[in-house]
Amino acid sequence: MVTIRKNLVSQSIINSVTSSTGNGRKWITVHETDNERATANADAHGRLQANGNSRSASWHYSVDDKEAVQSFNHNIRCWAAGDGSGNGNYNSIHVEICVNEGGDYKKAVKNAAELVKKIMKDENISLANVVQHNHWSGKNCPSKMRSGKCGYTWAQFKDMLKEITTVSKPSTTNKNSYFTTNPGKIKVIKGCWQYSGTSFNKKQREQKVDAGPTIYTVVKIEKTKNGTPRLLMKNGTFMTANKKYIEKA
Ligand SMILES: [Zn+2]
Repeated sequence: MVTIRKNLVSQSIINSVTSSTGNGRKWITVHETDNERATANADAHGRLQANGNSRSASWHYSVDDKEAVQSFNHNIRCWAAGDGSGNGNYNSIHVEICVNEGGDYKKAVKNAAELVKKIMKDENISLANVVQHNHWSGKNCPSKMRSGKCGYTWAQFKDMLKEITTVSKPSTTNKNSYFTTNPGKIKVIKGCWQYSGTSFNKKQREQKVDAGPTIYTVVKIEKTKNGTPRLLMKNGTFMTANKKYIEKA
């Protein structure tokens, strides 16, 4: 998941370049900055907004190949759609993808997809309501994606959002899904045990591990007699490979 860093603007800037609070949060609008200067990354766009953009414009997130920077909370009605008091400005959350020279545009688009997916989940916005800036005003934005000549088309971007949906949907139908990277790094998302052997009976319990940011190293994946994968850890113990308990770090 792309890192999201907040650099929220002051209230006086909210007053000068937005229509204040009341954003209905029904849409997500995707833009590209069209600024190809090497320095025009997400951090720079975040600072531009925090320092008071001289243009009467505002947007919630700037995302590049390294991070996403959030400038406004979702309840703010930013001026980014060019549709006056229409749904674009009033009921949409705006994401600007950076196209700075020297940046990895394809990675920036992937990061934007992860960010958009997170906003969709947090605000319960459907895929159909993820639109281009073009949708609101006819502007040629996001221009690189619209041209399809820079690595991703809009359709591919939407496909990426669908894929992320499938991966992060809680698995209700298939019982268990397992960590399969061998070796790799994991984090614990639900408390579980480290065992001295693969059969995971109580006698084999070594120590409890709590959910948290600690990163554990998987040396290799072994299987029990019935084929259930177990993670052999660097400290010689075995842990569950079930993604209900652990995730890739
Ligand atoms: Zn735009």
